[in-house]
Amino acid sequence: MGVYEDWNLEPIINVSGAVTRLGGAPMPEAVLDAFCAAAREAVPLDALQGVASRVIADATGAEAGIVTAGASAGLMMGAAAILAGWDLRRMEQLPHCAGFPHEFVMAREQRNGYDHAVRAAGGKLVEVGMHEIVAGAGVRRAETWEFAAEFGPNTAGVLVVYDAQGRPPLAELVAKAHDHHLPVLVDAAGELPPRSNLKSIIATGADLVTFSGGKSIRGPQATGILCGRRELVGSALIQMLDMDDHFDLWAPPAHLIDKSGLPGMPRHGIGRALKVSKEQIIALLTALKLFTSGAYDHELKNMRRWLQDVALGLNGLPVRCHLHVADDGESLPILEITVDQAALGRSAWDVCGRLRRGKPPVHVGHGKLDDAKLMINPLHLTDNRTATLLRRLREELS
Ligand SMILES: *Cc1c(COP(=O)(O)O)cnc(C)c1O
Repeated sequence: MGVYEDWNLEPIINVSGAVTRLGGAPMPEAVLDAFCAAAREAVPLDALQGVASRVIADATGAEAGIVTAGASAGLMMGAAAILAGWDLRRMEQLPHCAGFPHEFVMAREQRNGYDHAVRAAGGKLVEVGMHEIVAGAGVRRAETWEFAAEFGPNTAGVLVVYDAQGRPPLAELVAKAHDHHLPVLVDAAGELPPRSNLKSIIATGADLVTFSGGKSIRGPQATGILCGRRELVGSALIQMLDMDDHFDLWAPPAHLIDKSGLPGMPRHGIGRALKVSKEQIIALLTALKLFTSGAYDHELKNMRRWLQDVALGLNGLPVRCHLHVADDGESLPILEITVDQAALGRSAWDVCGRLRRGKPPVHVGHGKLDDAKLMINPLHLTDNRTATLLRRLREELS
């Protein structure tokens, strides 16, 4: 019996990848060990974030960085830092921004559910550009001039959801924003791998960048990284730390928080609700070291073999299998199973639902069901789970 069975819950086979809904990524043993070891001792959280900042700066090339409660929390804290700066009254006021600039300009085509975090901090989103390509009514994407045309006295910054093919090119947009003395906040939550993105996104000059800690980095699910300019990261940390101390005694890490720039002890900020624990911070830093060193790359061979075994095992059933293998030596292979719905007499939607309700429950990638495709991500696979997955697939696809 496992720990979830003790609580009357059956573990699933997750072949959807590091999705939050299904509990994120599996943490490597070294990360779990670090988590437990960190839980056994006490340290001041501000000092620990000071250490984290040095590690994150080293990994990203940014001036500073902190561990947040996920990339979504990173977006919220990044927005809070941009909105309030080092103004304690503004910090206290958030998310209400009456009387100071609070608009974030972003491409309409990049609007997504995670931008709620920026709105929750008090930001108001101003959309530019069109969505012509999805509408089938044009060929152009958001353009830099459209951002500049929106910049005005109420603009606080620019919000970008990073994509290597994103438009406008990030470096061009950053340069334009900086012409107007506006900071750029980048959501790069799921943009790892490639590892090179840890450094290349910051290298565009972006002021703040956030990454998920619980996706490819394989840290605790509820961790993320916010990195960028020192004074912004410092503001985010002030608004996140527990402030129940006396100003004279408080000794935050001087390379992140310069006390002489503060008139007194801030109250708990908006990010006090997004706290991260010492165990999470240590585990994330441990995972980040593994990720940046390429320690996960050797697993790709096994993952490819498991997916090939599944594809072979489905031979003779009404499906077509295609194994997508990236050539970067870092990205996970993905198995795409296209269901011949007419021959099977059952839709891919139906198969997906039956897999979820079966024993054990199997959750496949569900982003392409309208194209009759089940997507298999091997992140959580083992020899045993692969055998069980194949058995369940064969049962539902026969
Ligand atoms: C996953 C994701 C997030 C949220 O990241 P968490 O670490 O789960 O908070 C935000 N934005 C994008 C684009 C994502 O893919």
